[in-house]
Amino acid sequence: MSVLTTSSSSRTLKIGVVGFGPFGQFLAKTMIKQGHILQATSRSDHSQLCHHLGISFFREEREFIEADNDVILICTSILSLSQVLNNLPLHFLKRPTLIAEVLSVKEHPRNVLLQVVPEDMDLLCTHPMFGPESGKNGWQDLTFVYDKVRIRDEATCSSFLHIFQSEGCKMLEMSCEEHDKIAARSQFLTHTIGRTLSEMEIESTSMNTKGFETLVQLKESSVSDSFDLFSGLFIYNRFAMKELQNLELALEKVKQKLQQKMEEQSSNESKL
Ligand code: NAP
Repeated sequence: MSVLTTSSSSRTLKIGVVGFGPFGQFLAKTMIKQGHILQATSRSDHSQLCHHLGISFFREEREFIEADNDVILICTSILSLSQVLNNLPLHFLKRPTLIAEVLSVKEHPRNVLLQVVPEDMDLLCTHPMFGPESGKNGWQDLTFVYDKVRIRDEATCSSFLHIFQSEGCKMLEMSCEEHDKIAARSQFLTHTIGRTLSEMEIESTSMNTKGFETLVQLKESSVSDSFDLFSGLFIYNRFAMKELQNLELALEKVKQKLQQKMEEQSSNESKL
């Protein structure tokens, strides 16, 4: 793992976003603000919003692919990645292009991209560790993880990374495997506890402690992401199942400790 601290050179990029959902839109706004040229394609028709933002929207995937992008940025859901990539006619790309992605798991997109992307295209796997809620007031000090899976055109890759670096992100280069290991024990665990609290229907009360307020916020931020995103964190991260089991075991242990203490207490009281 290494932290990128030096400033790198940058140029204006033509970026084609595949998957114009909440996260694709969120990234696109900052990229446009920085002066990059954006194009997009998606399953649903986002043409009105794109028009409003100054983005060309393509319904035809082949036209999108032939629209001369420097970077194709995959922002689709984890669950739909294979289907979306298999439908994208990447062999019609006219020149070597950087294929980048932002999925919240990393080994899965790396493996799929290595299978379907033509050999002369560069590959960059990334995970911005923030979203529309946590990044709504800017990206300063938020973490951006990346793995240069196959990079020959360093200038384009560096210009793309500069988008995040120049907003003040903490740039962390690490392998996709290392990312998934750490993310299972941090991000997946966070979402799982947030979703569990939501199943319990916890709500703010008139006598909240600070700790409980944190739980309510966690519940609200977890359910603001789609269930597709949450289930993708589990299905496509091979380390997530173990963490789910650890969580169940830990809850069982805490329960046993409480029951044991309750029995001790009641036996002490019966001796009085
Ligand atoms: P999401 O529910 O994970 O993905 C929504 C996107 O996936 C939309 O563009 C949607 O297209 C597309 N999609 C879903 N099912 C599809 C299908 N069957 N066929 C084709 N396209 C399909 O929500 P998101 O928050 O926008 O996340 C997008 C990606 O960014 C995910 O991979 C996620 O892991 C990653 N990410 C999200 C965050 C975050 O905070 N939200 C942070 C970092 C990374 P349409 O809109 O056209 O229907």
